Amino acid sequence: MTPLNQGIGMTSQRTRERLIQRLRDEGVRDTRVLDSMRNTPRHMFVDEALASRAYEDTALPIGNGQTISQPYIVARMTEALIAEGPLENILEVGTGSGYQTAVLAPLVRRVYTVERIKVLLDQARRRFQALKIRNIVTKHTDGGMGLPEYAPFDGIIVTAAPEGIPLALVEQLRPGGRMVLPIGLRDQQALVRVHRTDDGYEHEMLERVSFVPLLGGVI
Ligand code: SAH
Repeated sequence: MTPLNQGIGMTSQRTRERLIQRLRDEGVRDTRVLDSMRNTPRHMFVDEALASRAYEDTALPIGNGQTISQPYIVARMTEALIAEGPLENILEVGTGSGYQTAVLAPLVRRVYTVERIKVLLDQARRRFQALKIRNIVTKHTDGGMGLPEYAPFDGIIVTAAPEGIPLALVEQLRPGGRMVLPIGLRDQQALVRVHRTDDGYEHEMLERVSFVPLLGGVI
């Protein structure tokens, strides 16, 4: 095989299928999530120089000190978010590469996604356009306070870690809605699912994770 063919091979259907099998082996069961991940070309969400590693189950740098999440974590968070039935509108805080957004898009009616770093958001927008995904609304803003003008949401997914559960986000969930997010400092984070109740919220720990921190302000 020539090096060129090898390069193409690394992003082939077979390479993707291996990743999906690995996710299954790791316990991901929801076929809606597995199908969406099979159909989402992760190599388009990383720099060309890293495209050959796009179907490894690992986080990769996307510039500006940020990372595209590990596929297993994307699968787990998506599964946790959509488990209890259909969702109309979702808020994602931390667009990053846009990969998680693109995986969610076919599973819900509309995804609102916010990112504080403009160059990352612009790249993600171009990827959504290239893939003709039309139910994503992007905003260049600090998502720590949510997106009150579009609230309430059926679900919220946060892909950067605050130190605790942000109440501003809980308040933007409709009763019965849920939020999936990492919480805590870098080496001791947990993935948490929050359920909004009529008069407050409940939460459960899912597993240990390692995300970049949720930061304030826009750049
Ligand atoms: N889901 C993304 C993960 C990107 S890393 C992916 O798979 O590519 C988390 C992202 O959250 C980073 O791009 C970071 O800039 C962004 N972020 C951190 N704090 C934020 C905030 N307060 N508002 C919006 N985006 C934020």
